[in-house]
Amino acid sequence: MHAAFVRHDPAGTPIALVLDSPHSGEWYPDDFDHAPPRGLVRQAEDTHVARLWQAAPSLGATLIEARFPRAYIDPNRSLADIDTELLADAWPGPIAPSRKTEQGIGLVWRLARGGTPLYARRLASAEVQARIDRFWRPYHDALDTAVNECHATFGGVWHINCHSMPAVGDALADDPGRERADFVLGDRDGTTCDAALTQRVADAVRAMGYSVAVNDPYKGVEIVRKHGRPHENRHSLQIEIKRTLYMDEHTLDPGAGYARVQSDLARREYSPDQ
Ligand SMILES: [Zn+2]
Repeated sequence: MHAAFVRHDPAGTPIALVLDSPHSGEWYPDDFDHAPPRGLVRQAEDTHVARLWQAAPSLGATLIEARFPRAYIDPNRSLADIDTELLADAWPGPIAPSRKTEQGIGLVWRLARGGTPLYARRLASAEVQARIDRFWRPYHDALDTAVNECHATFGGVWHINCHSMPAVGDALADDPGRERADFVLGDRDGTTCDAALTQRVADAVRAMGYSVAVNDPYKGVEIVRKHGRPHENRHSLQIEIKRTLYMDEHTLDPGAGYARVQSDLARREYSPDQ
């Protein structure tokens, strides 16, 4: 197994669908010397998300799952999203910090959830470069490969970027204190996929009894931006699921709704009339 990812191939007849779960990794590298307790650092994870979508390969989709924690290095950030406040020396490459870096959650996170510093030291640029080479690049290469194979085979590819979100935005979020919808779909304001895909997913999720918001508060970040090129018949949609639907946000243990969410995500078809 690769240190960075697991690729789950279709079990049956392949379809033109690729899923990826970039933030559900639970394997903490030995050199991740975070200062706060592991329990706080793990609040950054999208714990359980790859397992919630685990039926996708049996329906013909390919699922790419990160093994490393996103607080260590975040695959959903660009390589230029560098936080110089975290570095002990000069960064050798281009720097274009996004709003995420201003919030302390850029390519390599400076802050844990709630604003607690993640490290008791600054990181050497070489350490960050090693994380990119060992984890960020292999993850992206695996996803690029799966998406490009699908596009070559079918002439089009539909990609779902799978995430989870806290039920309420914290002080550093764009929506502090506000209760979120059950599902938030992100297509970067209609630019990363055909509008029909966003609509179809929204209809399906509502038909199953969940509330849905689109691009509020999450529009999608680096991965859907990179893979969403509708004019090339490459469609990429981010799906955020509210954690309290299926887990305890503090202990990370599965909750009473876990089986329901998992079985809903395994449904092949839905009827708008049901
Ligand atoms: Zn996520």
